[in-house]
Amino acid sequence: MDIRTLEANLRDVRRRMADACERADRTADEVRLVAVTKTVDPVVARALIDLGVRDIGENRVQEAQRKHEELSGLDIAWHMIGHLQRNKVKYAFRIFELIHSVDSPRLARAISKRAEFEGREMPVLVQVNTSGEDSKYGLPAESAVEAIRVMAELPNLRIRGLMTMAPFVDDPETVRPVFVRLRELADEVAGLGLEGVEMAHLSMGMTQDFEVAIEEGATIVRVGSALFRGVTD
Ligand SMILES: *Cc1c(COP(=O)(O)O)cnc(C)c1O
Repeated sequence: MDIRTLEANLRDVRRRMADACERADRTADEVRLVAVTKTVDPVVARALIDLGVRDIGENRVQEAQRKHEELSGLDIAWHMIGHLQRNKVKYAFRIFELIHSVDSPRLARAISKRAEFEGREMPVLVQVNTSGEDSKYGLPAESAVEAIRVMAELPNLRIRGLMTMAPFVDDPETVRPVFVRLRELADEVAGLGLEGVEMAHLSMGMTQDFEVAIEEGATIVRVGSALFRGVTD
C-alpha cells in the first residue's frame, strides 16, 4: 500500500469538496466525506482513519462485519450504503450508525421492528431512484413522498434525509438534474412537517460526480475510487 498516494488522494478529494462548497456559497463543514472502503482491505481503511477520516461506508453487511471487527475500538461512524436484505438487519444494527439505503417500506418496517426490539432508534435515509434507471435500487421518485409519509408512522425509525445514486456517465454535468430532483423531494417532504422526520441529510455524489452533488446541496458524499487510485496497485 502506498500511504503517500493515499494521503495525497485524500487531500485532493477534500480540496475539491472545499472548492465545490465555495462555488455554492456553502462552508466546508456542511459536507461530510464518507470514505467507501468496499474495494479495499481493512489495513487500507485503517490507514485512512489514521489520516483523519471519521466516516466509513460499506455496501455489504458481511464485509462491513469483517472490517468492523478488525477495526474495533476506533472512534468512527459506519455507514450502510448498499441494498440491505431484511434478514441482515439484525447484523446491520451491530455495525452501522446510519443506514443510507432504505429502499422499500418492507425494509423500513423490518428496521423499525428491530429497533423496537432493541429498545433504541435507528437513523436512516430513504433511497430514491431519481434517475429512473431499472438497475438502481430506491423508491421511484413519483411515489417516494407518499411512501415516506407511511414510513414516518413506524416507531423507532428516524428518517433523517434522502439518498440517491446517479447513473454512470462521462460528463458529471449530465447528472445534475438527478441531484436537483433529490433536493426538491427533500424540500417537499420537509414541507409536510411529518413528526419525527427531519430532512437533515442529502447523501449524494460519488467519485464521478461529488462536486456537482455538493453544488446541488449534498451534505454527505460517498467517495471510494478517487481515494484509492494508485494506492493498492
Ligand atoms: C461504491 C459506492 C460508492 C462509491 O463509488 P466510487 O465511484 O468508488 O466513489 C458510493 N455509493 C454507493 C452506494 C456505492 O455502492
